[in-house]
Amino acid sequence: MMEFWSATARALSPYTPGEQPRIEGLVKLNTNECPLPPSPHALAAMRDAATDALRLYPDPESLALREALARHHGLKPENVFVGNGSDEVLAHVFVALLKHERTLLFPDVTYSFYPVWAGLYGVDYQTVALDEAMRLRVDDYRRNEAGAIIFANPNAPTGIALPRDEVTRLLEQHADIPVVVDEAYVDFGGETAAPLIAAHPNLLVVRTFSKSRALAGLRVGYALGQPSLIDALTRVKNCFNSYPLGRIAQAGAIASVEDDSYFQASVRTIVAERERMTAQLRELGFSVLPSSANFIFARHATASGAELAKALRDRAVLVRHFNAPRIEDYLRITIGTAEQTDKLVAALQNILR
Ligand code: PMP
Repeated sequence: MMEFWSATARALSPYTPGEQPRIEGLVKLNTNECPLPPSPHALAAMRDAATDALRLYPDPESLALREALARHHGLKPENVFVGNGSDEVLAHVFVALLKHERTLLFPDVTYSFYPVWAGLYGVDYQTVALDEAMRLRVDDYRRNEAGAIIFANPNAPTGIALPRDEVTRLLEQHADIPVVVDEAYVDFGGETAAPLIAAHPNLLVVRTFSKSRALAGLRVGYALGQPSLIDALTRVKNCFNSYPLGRIAQAGAIASVEDDSYFQASVRTIVAERERMTAQLRELGFSVLPSSANFIFARHATASGAELAKALRDRAVLVRHFNAPRIEDYLRITIGTAEQTDKLVAALQNILR
C-alpha cells in the first residue's frame, strides 16, 4: 500500500536497532543494555508513581527531574533538557542545533543513527575518517565547510574514548559552531565534557539512563548545555510532544540519579567484567580495541565477523555485527554478567575449535 505513503516516508532509510527476540536462555549481548537491575530505589519510586495520578498528564517541563540532574552535575535546571531516551534528545538536537547552511561533520565510524536523523531532517553532512587505530583526530575536523560537529565519546561501536583535553581543543578550534558530545557510555571510563559547559557556549553534552543506570526500558535521556542551547531544544520539543516523559519515567529517573552508591557499584562491576572478558577474548585470538564503554569491539585473527555472529546466534548468544565499511570484521559485544561471559567464551571455543 505504498501508494498512500508520503514522498517523505518513501525517501527514508530508517535505523535498524539490535533485535529483541524471545529465545529461551538467550545470552543477550547485542544492544548494550545493563545486565544488572536498576536501583531498587528507582523501582520503588516507579511503583509509587503508578497510582491514580496517572490519569493526569505529567509535568511537561519535567522540572523535578531536571532539578535532580542539575544537582548531580553541579549545574542549574536551565542547563538541562530531558527526553524520551537520548535518541529522542538527539533527534531534536539535529533539528535545533545541527542543521545549518554549512555542513555537519561526524566520524565515518560512529553511531549509525546520525546519518538517519540527518536524512530525516535534511541535514547536509560529511564524515571524517577515524585514524587507522580507530581514534578520532581532532585536527581533521578543521574544515572551512564545517557548520556543526557531533561525535560519541566514548565512540560507538569502537568503545574508544577521547580525552577531555582533546575535547577542549576541539571546542576551542570551533568556538563559532555547535559541538555535540554524545556521552551515552561515558560512565564506564570516559571523561565527561560536562565541566566544560560553563566556558563553552557551543557545547552540548547528551546522556542516557539506558546503559549505566540500567533503565533502557524506561526511555530517559538528557542534554546539558548553556541555557540558549537548551532553549532551542525546548522549542523543538514543544513542536513535537508536550509530554515526552511520563510520570513513572520522571519518578524512576529522579530516584536513580539520587542513588549514587548503587550506580557506582554497578558501574564498577561492569568495568571489572569488561577487563575479564577482554582478556579471555584475546586468549581466543581476538584483537580487542581499548574500551571505555560497556561493550567491546573485537575482531578475530581468522574467523569473519558475519560468520561468528551467525554461529553465536545459532548457540543462543546474541552479539552485534555491522555490515559496514571498515568494521565488517568486528563484533560488538555488550558486557554482561560473569555467567554470560562464560557462556559466550564457551560458545566461541566450540565455534573456533
Ligand atoms: N547514543 C549512542 C552512541 C548509543 O549507542 C545509543 C544506544 N543505541 C544511544 C545514543 C541511544 O540510547 P537511548 O535512546 O536508549 O538513550
